[in-house]
Amino acid sequence: APRVLTLGETMGLLTGGRIGSLAHVSEAHIGIGGAETNVAVGLSRLGVPVTWIGRVGDDSLGRRVLREIRGEGVDARALLDPEAATGLMLKELRGPGMSRVYYYRAGSAGSRLAATDVPADLVESVGLVHLTGITPLLSDSAHEACLSVVQRARAGGVRVSFDVNYRSTLAPADVAADVLGELVREADLVFGSPEELAYVVPGAVTDDSVTVDELTRTLDPTGAREIVVKRGADGASTYTQGSVVHAPAHRVDVVDTVGAGDAFVAGYLSGDLQHWSATEKLARANTCGAAMCTTPGDWEAAPTPAELEAFLGADGDPVQ
Ligand code: ATP
Repeated sequence: APRVLTLGETMGLLTGGRIGSLAHVSEAHIGIGGAETNVAVGLSRLGVPVTWIGRVGDDSLGRRVLREIRGEGVDARALLDPEAATGLMLKELRGPGMSRVYYYRAGSAGSRLAATDVPADLVESVGLVHLTGITPLLSDSAHEACLSVVQRARAGGVRVSFDVNYRSTLAPADVAADVLGELVREADLVFGSPEELAYVVPGAVTDDSVTVDELTRTLDPTGAREIVVKRGADGASTYTQGSVVHAPAHRVDVVDTVGAGDAFVAGYLSGDLQHWSATEKLARANTCGAAMCTTPGDWEAAPTPAELEAFLGADGDPVQ
């Protein structure tokens, strides 16, 4: 399969050892996470070669990030930044299937990503570039890195995928609308929730009532783009060339939904690289997303093709 290139920040992740406020829970599990490497691991498990570019601190968490991602077969090209620490996320378990994430990433090594971190000729050599809306909001240099990679991809005829993934803690809505809107317009394949699409294109989407007409007219007047709307437990839809395909989510007992969106994207991209139809891509993506909801980690349970098959019974519904 063609190689995927992604770039972004991956951090240490401390997850409370039991349900309760981190003001009181005293045990935590150490792991790592970041939207782009969650997708990268998802792709790797599905047999897609993938390269990730990012910065980590020259510290133990940074080494852990690299060891874990490389252990998953991802080609991690990371700069060890001696001047900043690896970022950190804390995950508080608030109830069954509910969690809240707190970020400690301002000024982190990962946020210092720069266009010069991307080696010459790398972008031009891959089959698809995948970015998220997190990276360009980390810093000016990370924003420039995203724009530079997108420009190189477009010049080289490389397909660009963009998951809006708007995090309100990184930038206010008006700033995000400008920065993310520009990347949406440059992408061939766009992922987002109805709310996120509303942020980047005010007026295009109202609540849950996304219509293909509104989307294609406002987000994509040329109709050349593929827009994938993620709707959590309500499944997902693909809008392309004036047509729409809806696919319901699987019904599962949710343990933790964090990472479902990234698993969904990995599943979708794996099919896209093989020129599957929107229906086939949505089916795999929904199964990857549902599988991720049934396990606690953000990426650890990303399924292999064999696991996807085992996850679904003969009737096509999850075996639980
Ligand atoms: P996150 O950023 O937390 O990873 P997201 O907002 O990007 O998530 P969602 O729309 O929540 O993405 O979920 C992505 C996909 O995962 C959905 O389209 C669906 O296929 C699957 N999914 C999510 N939640 C559920 C659920 N409760 N039951 C079944 N499938 C789900």
